[in-house]
Amino acid sequence: VIVVLAGGTGGAKLARGLLDVVEAERLTVIANTGDDVEVYGVHVSPDPDLVTYWLADLIDEQRGYGIRGDSWETMAALESAGRDPWFRLGDRDLATCLLRTELLRAGERLTAATERIVRGLGVRATVVPMSDDPVRTQIASRGRKLPLQEFMIVEHAAAPIDGVELLGADSARAAPEALAAIDSAEAIVLGPSNPVISIGPILAVAEIREAIAGASAPVVAVSPFVGGRSVKGPTEAFCEHAGLPLGTAGVVQAYRGLVDGVVSDQPLDGAEIAQLGTDTLMATPARRRELARTTLEFAATLSGANAPQTRAR
Ligand code: GDP
Repeated sequence: VIVVLAGGTGGAKLARGLLDVVEAERLTVIANTGDDVEVYGVHVSPDPDLVTYWLADLIDEQRGYGIRGDSWETMAALESAGRDPWFRLGDRDLATCLLRTELLRAGERLTAATERIVRGLGVRATVVPMSDDPVRTQIASRGRKLPLQEFMIVEHAAAPIDGVELLGADSARAAPEALAAIDSAEAIVLGPSNPVISIGPILAVAEIREAIAGASAPVVAVSPFVGGRSVKGPTEAFCEHAGLPLGTAGVVQAYRGLVDGVVSDQPLDGAEIAQLGTDTLMATPARRRELARTTLEFAATLSGANAPQTRAR
């Protein structure tokens, strides 16, 4: 099994690239649920859904979230009913959330509900939430505490970051399926997602962190910094808040003790871990596939094991 830890965009794009180079059944994405939110009566899992839409080739790449070609009747109706539709869910995207909510209310675990959604969209790879227990990322800003989605959407991620709290992380158990995947992994990849608010909450689940630290498989991180800058989103502001230098050095620092190697376009001089320097911008399917392939080959050199079986395209 190839395991990828992912938030939204960065990790999801790499996961999509991996789908071209390993059989779908051998790919497991462990997704961040710190962004999950209850809105309009449904349970939204932004990161697991983003990953799933990427894997299903349904993603609206222009907008960066949701389903391509989706309609927006429900949001328009909510607005005319006087409900501010600040959290934009297209109609089909909302259907994903309705299904999840129905399954959760019937007593299913979040992991099982996610699997139903993933299979329903025809994806043969596995997407596992990091935990079945609630973990909620909150941003302290100007004396207030904002759930992450409110910080991102209502505040446009522009408000000052005075603190990051991961409510529930201390007591959250890992999803058993996530631990099983790590246990049987040939390679574990920390995707190029925000280290503080996307990968951070996954690693804040103690059982996951310990399993990765003790994994026999090689663990590699792919840097979300391209040319030293974040491609999109507030990664730079969150790294600055966390005291992480921007660029490869910040990735090495964020994942110290966990990773055997780092992939970036700006390798460091004299780094303490193995490095692969390569083009890490995933603007096209070919670039996503190429980064996925070279990352796995690099990981295989770290374990000294045979390169994971790849499927040529
Ligand atoms: P999101 O902000 O919730 O969508 O989630 P992520 O944390 O997964 O995604 C944001 C991160 O993805 C940013 O730090 C970006 O720099 C990174 N990212 C986006 N596209 C690319 C890419 O093509 N290559 C790399 N290396 N990183 C990327």
